[in-house]
Amino acid sequence: MIKYAILIFVLLKCNIIADSRYLYNKNHFLQNTDELNFGRLSPVSFKYSVSNCISTSDCGHNLFDGNRNTEWIGIKESEIESVTIDFGSKRLLNNIRWDISPNSTLITEIQIQVLNRNEWKTLSTVMSPALQGIAEIVSTDASIVRINFLKPEGGSLALRQLSILLNESNLTGISPRFTSYSLPTYGAVIPEDDYYLPGAPRKYRNGIHKGLDFNTYIGSDQIEQKMKLTTPILAIASGEVVRVDNDYIPMSLNEYNDITQYNQNHPVTYVDKDFGGRQIWIDHKNGVMSSYNHLSSIVKNIKIGTKVANGEIIGYAGNSGLISEIKSSKDQIHLHLELWIDGEYLGNDMKPIQIRKFLQYFFTE
Ligand SMILES: [Zn+2]
Repeated sequence: MIKYAILIFVLLKCNIIADSRYLYNKNHFLQNTDELNFGRLSPVSFKYSVSNCISTSDCGHNLFDGNRNTEWIGIKESEIESVTIDFGSKRLLNNIRWDISPNSTLITEIQIQVLNRNEWKTLSTVMSPALQGIAEIVSTDASIVRINFLKPEGGSLALRQLSILLNESNLTGISPRFTSYSLPTYGAVIPEDDYYLPGAPRKYRNGIHKGLDFNTYIGSDQIEQKMKLTTPILAIASGEVVRVDNDYIPMSLNEYNDITQYNQNHPVTYVDKDFGGRQIWIDHKNGVMSSYNHLSSIVKNIKIGTKVANGEIIGYAGNSGLISEIKSSKDQIHLHLELWIDGEYLGNDMKPIQIRKFLQYFFTE
C-alpha cells in the first residue's frame, strides 16, 4: 500500500515537471553527493550529500537554488532522511532555515547535528516543525553539519530550500540577484556540450568563448529543433537597453578573413567589426547585464534607453557576424548570450559543471 502511494506521488510529480519550462533545462545533476562552488558568485563553496534522491532532477542541488518550485525529494522506506553539508573548514553559524513542501508526509522532528570527532552531536531538535521553519542555534563553529528529518516509515520528504546562516548571511545559497531570470527563447535548451558554454576555449575571440550558445529549442510539439531566423529572442529580465545595433552592416568576406587572421596572432584590443554580429545589450541593474549576439533583426523602436520587460521579444535569432551570414547561408543560426556580472563574464574561473548549476539557479523564473 505504501509503495503504491509512493508510485502515485512520483507520477504526480512527473506531471508537474512536464508542465514547467524547467523541462527544457538539461542541467540535471547527479546523485546524492555533489559540490557547489561558484567562485566569487557564491559566499562559500561546500560539498553536500543527501540520503536519497527520487531522480537526478529532484536531487540535492535544488535545496540551494533559491527556487521554491524545485525540490529535493527523498523517498526512503526508513524513518530518517538527511542532508549533510561539508564546508571543508571551520565556519561560524547560528541559524538554519528550511522550507518543507506540502508534498511531504508530515515531518515529526528535525535534528540539527554537527560532526564532533567521529560522532554526531545534536545541537538542536525541533518537534512537529512548521512548513517554513527556523532553528536558531547557539553561535557555534563547525565544518560538517547534518540535518535529519524524521518522518513515518515509507513517507516522503520534499524540501524546497535549506539554508545555513551566520546572522543574515546565507552560507549555502545564491544571492537573490542571480535568480529569477527567464530563458531567452521559448523552449530554450541549454546545450549539453561544454564547447557552447562560457569559458570554453576558442581559436578566435581572444581564445575564450564568453557566451552561452543556444542552438536549439523545444517546439510546441515537444520536439527539439534548430533555431531559425523566425525564432524570437526574449529579454531574460526587465531592464534598460544600453546598446542596440540598429545600423549594423555585415562584414565583407575580405574583412571577415582579415579580422580572423589578425586575431589569431594579435591580442584583440578593440572590437570594431565583431563576430557577435547584430547585438542588443540590456542592463538589468544589480550588476547583471545580458548581451544577445548574432541577431538577424531587432524589434522596431528599440533604442538606447528603451525599457524592456521580462520575456519581451527584442529580436530574432540569426547568424550575423558569422561566415554563414557573409555567404548568405542559413547555417550557424543560434543565440550567443553573454551574461556579465559585476563587470566580468559569467563563467570566468568556473568549471563547466558549476556553470551549469549556476545557470540552473539563474534561470528559475
Ligand atoms: Zn557563442
